[in-house]
Amino acid sequence: MATHVIVGAGLAGGRAAGTLREEGFDGRVILIDAEPHPPYERPPLSKELILGTKEPADARLFPEPFYQDNDIELLLGADVARLVPEERRVELADGASVPADKVLLTTGSRPRPLPVPGADLEGVHHLRTLDDAQAIRAALQDGAALVVVGGGFIGAELASSARALGNRVTMVELDHLPMRRVLGDDIAELLTRHHRERGVRVITQAGVERFEGGGTPGRRVRRVVTTDGQSIPADLVVVGVGVLPNDELAARSGLAVGDGVLVDEYCATSHPDVYAAGDVARHPNPVLGGPVRLEHFQNAQNQGMAAARSMLGKGEPYAQVPWFWSDQYELNIQMSGHPRPTDTVVWRGEPDDMRFTACYLRDGVLVAAIGVNRPRDVRAATGLIAARARPDENLLADTSVDIRRTTPRGES
Ligand SMILES: Cc1cc2nc3c(=O)[nH]c(=O)nc-3n(C[C@H](O)[C@H](O)[C@H](O)COP(=O)(O)OP(=O)(O)OC[C@H]3O[C@@H](n4cnc5c(N)ncnc54)[C@H](O)[C@@H]3O)c2cc1C
Repeated sequence: MATHVIVGAGLAGGRAAGTLREEGFDGRVILIDAEPHPPYERPPLSKELILGTKEPADARLFPEPFYQDNDIELLLGADVARLVPEERRVELADGASVPADKVLLTTGSRPRPLPVPGADLEGVHHLRTLDDAQAIRAALQDGAALVVVGGGFIGAELASSARALGNRVTMVELDHLPMRRVLGDDIAELLTRHHRERGVRVITQAGVERFEGGGTPGRRVRRVVTTDGQSIPADLVVVGVGVLPNDELAARSGLAVGDGVLVDEYCATSHPDVYAAGDVARHPNPVLGGPVRLEHFQNAQNQGMAAARSMLGKGEPYAQVPWFWSDQYELNIQMSGHPRPTDTVVWRGEPDDMRFTACYLRDGVLVAAIGVNRPRDVRAATGLIAARARPDENLLADTSVDIRRTTPRGES
């Protein structure tokens, strides 16, 4: 009986395991993870789990009986140390061997460390796992002063959740605006203003010089000292300065890597029996015209499923338009495609009302859309981006016209 092993029981790995069964694979499916929890979704960790509107069990990817019902073997708390595809096995850190005819690597990513003095003090957190979220949630309960280091999406979501809980929040961002690298200056500016209006102190163009401890024996974080000399009181710090792909296992096992595990359009790695998907995979995306490593839910879920089909010889090139969302305060932010600063921007709706969609055209072709509280626009735009449509700019700017009706009839 063939055995397919999935290393990493996150979103990509969990969905891949389900897909192997849905597609009729009747061999063994072994899903391995270093974490002790069955597969769960990470988006609630910075949102509902902090707010207390969801419990850890609500974040589960599948209901508990799913694994038994589908004969999926879960091996949790097990660190995979090496893949040995030529011997059809993987090796665990404790020396045990697991048989593996084919392997899917869905090892995801981990928070980028911040190498400054005091980074190891108590109260300095990262946010990636369920355990991280629970520790942060517990520390926020007493109205603590939170300093978020890094104004990316996770930092911005956490700032919004902590404000809702009544915490004092300071955000420290190296760039001149939080979220600017992804959203561009104009939208980043609007969102930064929104954070400030909701009571977040946003400090820009400053990094962290050091974290200072206090109390006895001085091991608890008390202050964040910035590179521009500010000293910010902190009961709790969350560092969100990006992630690194967990590709060391692949590298150790002789696979081609380069800021992620290199895969082809079918999610196959440089070894014919090993595949990779999700945050860890660098995949040639035909919509974006080159290899990219995406760190979004949709990519992890759908690429994991695509890789599972490839493992069964039923694969098709994975070619979805990248899409992600973020929830901050009452704002739902969605982005489809990848804009560039040189694109022509057509605005739909009112930026000042925080209800708008920015549509990005490159040589007349719709390549990206960013919507704030206009999810239907972004959904419709995603179809046009996939079709490389050339919408009429006047129609696109008119919110009374459905985005799907902005291209000349018959042309897309
Ligand atoms: C707080 C937070 C909020 C987010 N919110 C959003 C959002 O709103 N919208 C959005 O689009 N995306 C969001 N994301 C991103 C999204 O959750 C990720 O892109 C997605 O989880 C990636 O899934 P993955 O399966 O590729 O990797 P992961 O979820 O990282 O799972 C990888 C798993 O592999 C395991 N592993 C790694 N190495 C080994 C090894 N050697 N042996 C055994 N196990 C191993 C890890 O323990 C981990 O469980 C968020 C992420 C976080 C952290």
